[in-house]
Amino acid sequence: PAPLAEHGPAQIIAMCNQKGGVGKTTSTINLGAALAEYGRRVLLVDFDPQGALSVGLGVNPMELDVTVYNLLMERGLTADEVLLKTAVPGMDLLPSNIDLSAAEVQLVSEVARESALARALKPLLPDYDYVIIDCQPSLGLLTVNALTAAHSVIVPLECEFFALRGVALLTETIEKVCERLNPDLRLDGILATMYDSRTVHSREVLARVVEAFGEHVFHTVIGRTVRFPETTVAGEPITTYATNSVGAAAYRQLAREVLDRCRPAE
Ligand code: ADP
Ligand code: MG
Repeated sequence: PAPLAEHGPAQIIAMCNQKGGVGKTTSTINLGAALAEYGRRVLLVDFDPQGALSVGLGVNPMELDVTVYNLLMERGLTADEVLLKTAVPGMDLLPSNIDLSAAEVQLVSEVARESALARALKPLLPDYDYVIIDCQPSLGLLTVNALTAAHSVIVPLECEFFALRGVALLTETIEKVCERLNPDLRLDGILATMYDSRTVHSREVLARVVEAFGEHVFHTVIGRTVRFPETTVAGEPITTYATNSVGAAAYRQLAREVLDRCRPAE
């Protein structure tokens, strides 16, 4: 991909699936790092009170004084008071921790409760090319905030039995947000993760996913490898932890697809 002469305004991508353990956090970190390698300025938003995205980038969520929670709930706080640089040049993090779970409850009584994240991110958009929001495994108010802020959604699907179970509910939620809150929201892609080419089963699941979603499925398929759990322990993306690995190559390929697909509608 060609380098950019100037940066921003950012495309916002929500990494979303209400099922846990499908590769949302792993894909957020590694897609982000691969986009940054291609010279894009990237902001990752940890929008799961578990703080797994923060941990995966070497941050201890328990030690944070301010997080994305404060950015959502406190007027007058600016993003630079919450932003952290990561070890990847060009990639920043809005970290989170368990405090964020209170926002789900507190936002309910706010005016425009679905657009709190969109408001918080707005001043940052000129500085970045991509903002990727790592959603929590639910379709509650936090996730609706992510979908309301986003231009597009990426849905990671584990190549396992029942991968498609629950996807109808997710696409309904996306459609509702589209109708009521964010008419420009697009489903940019279904990302097949944890694919094991040695098993007939993985191949069958992938075939069913392609049958169901056609051109919405990214050509890039993320294989299953222990390298990913290792990177969590190391607190860095696979692109730096194992830069020549198959997993790193896969996320670079995904980044090239995203550069092609996840751009402003003409
Ligand atoms: P989610 O954010 O959807 O809950 P994670 O990205 O945290 O999912 O992944 C769940 C677990 O699976 C983590 O331990 C992660 O390291 C591991 N994992 C993610 N992607 C892969 C993969 N392609 N191959 C093997 N393990 C993976
Ligand atoms: Mg996660």
